[in-house]
Amino acid sequence: MRTKRSAETRKECAAARGCPLWLGLVFLLAALGLACQEPRQPPNFILITLDTTRPDHLGPYGYAGADTPNLDRFAQRAQVYERAYATSSWTLASHASILTGLLPRQHGAQSMPTGANRSLGYGVRPLADSFLTLAEILSAAGYRTGAVVAGPALRGELGTAQGFEIYHDELDGNDRRFHGKRAEETTDLALEIIRQFGAEPFFLFVNYFDAHAPYAPPEGFSKPPAASPEREDENGTPVVVRFIERLSAGTPARPVGELPPDERAQLETALAGYDAEITYLDHHLGRLLDAIDRLPAAEESWIFVTGDHGESFGEHYFLSHGAHLYEDNVRVPLLVRAPGSRALVRLDKPVQNHALFGTILQAAGLARPDWAEPLPAEGEGMEVVLEVHRSDSNIKIGGEFFDRDLFALIDDSAKLIRSSRGPTELFDLEADPEELDNLKTSRPDLRVLLEARLDELHGERPPLYPEPGNLELRKETEDSLRAMGYIE
Ligand SMILES: [Zn+2]
Repeated sequence: MRTKRSAETRKECAAARGCPLWLGLVFLLAALGLACQEPRQPPNFILITLDTTRPDHLGPYGYAGADTPNLDRFAQRAQVYERAYATSSWTLASHASILTGLLPRQHGAQSMPTGANRSLGYGVRPLADSFLTLAEILSAAGYRTGAVVAGPALRGELGTAQGFEIYHDELDGNDRRFHGKRAEETTDLALEIIRQFGAEPFFLFVNYFDAHAPYAPPEGFSKPPAASPEREDENGTPVVVRFIERLSAGTPARPVGELPPDERAQLETALAGYDAEITYLDHHLGRLLDAIDRLPAAEESWIFVTGDHGESFGEHYFLSHGAHLYEDNVRVPLLVRAPGSRALVRLDKPVQNHALFGTILQAAGLARPDWAEPLPAEGEGMEVVLEVHRSDSNIKIGGEFFDRDLFALIDDSAKLIRSSRGPTELFDLEADPEELDNLKTSRPDLRVLLEARLDELHGERPPLYPEPGNLELRKETEDSLRAMGYIE
């Protein structure tokens, strides 16, 4: 195995260095360019996903409402992708893409309105065993592989544990059922894995769940809302109910700043909790980043910090995620620290984070399938392909409006969103970043072009998943999903 071989070679070189009789020969060989060189340790790969975390709520992206000193410091030596997208707007579909390099339509790990799992109350197709994941490939190449996942949608039975020799997905206990694992525990478990792996090259995947609702950080991290718009209707209808009424009536979207003051007050309260959760998360993320920096192999490590989807706070009359493809739901942070990286580099072209699959294989010196492109070089971008499928939980909560599948394509600043049942939308993200002005009628040329390209891309990337198998959800997974309101 590659790992063992490297260790033995390192040992032989050390022995040579320690013996004076060898010195003359070592110098001679060095002069001939044949010296026993220190073999390069295969790089470690650390993949960190910040669940539900919007990039525009993080310091490296210019936000001051949450304190993220650790991520800010990390960014000082990282490539910061300013326009990074997930492949979907919910957890499993998006993570399965990062782990396989495939789009949701290909890997099929996505929400389902019907199917074999519906009797369990949770319409989802897990990631099939037939797919080869990063963990499986790296494990076969001699890497130790470990993961800590803090939320219920990445439980091992949903297929994301493939290839990991350690996979911490426990969610028992009342607090964990409601909040997922807290960042403190997530970091503690990740540090334990690092200790266990010692000097062997490893792939570590850590998913922090803190920014996900409910926005209730532990004692000491909560803070008051940033702004206090006048509360006109203290005991009125919850904003989420009003939003669903407007969505059902087809009310045109408007900027969040133009919502009634009492609605903005409710949103500000939610945002204050969200930002406080991010501050708390950063505190414990810092402990993990510091521990990695103390490793002898720190400078040989690749560290990726990204997300799986965003979160809406009133944009398009929506709260939460997983039911549309607007920017607030699909933009994610993406920061990459490569070995030897010394300075912050900002990249402004659109990219999609399932390209991490190709990036990691390439950096590991492993064979990379043709379709698994790594993140593009500086100055270049990617076509962004997005999708989210109808889910029984969204339909149950929000009604018929959510009974549709959505597909999107972003080509530079043009964005097309196509619905299986509703109207097509076309936006110019540069002129209209809030996606309020639908250009489908005024720019038919662009609409036709993007629709044809989306069809073409779908044709090139057909579904690869087998028919849904039977899935047995663990009792504690069901309890956790219920506590979070996904199932009844
Ligand atoms: Zn998520």
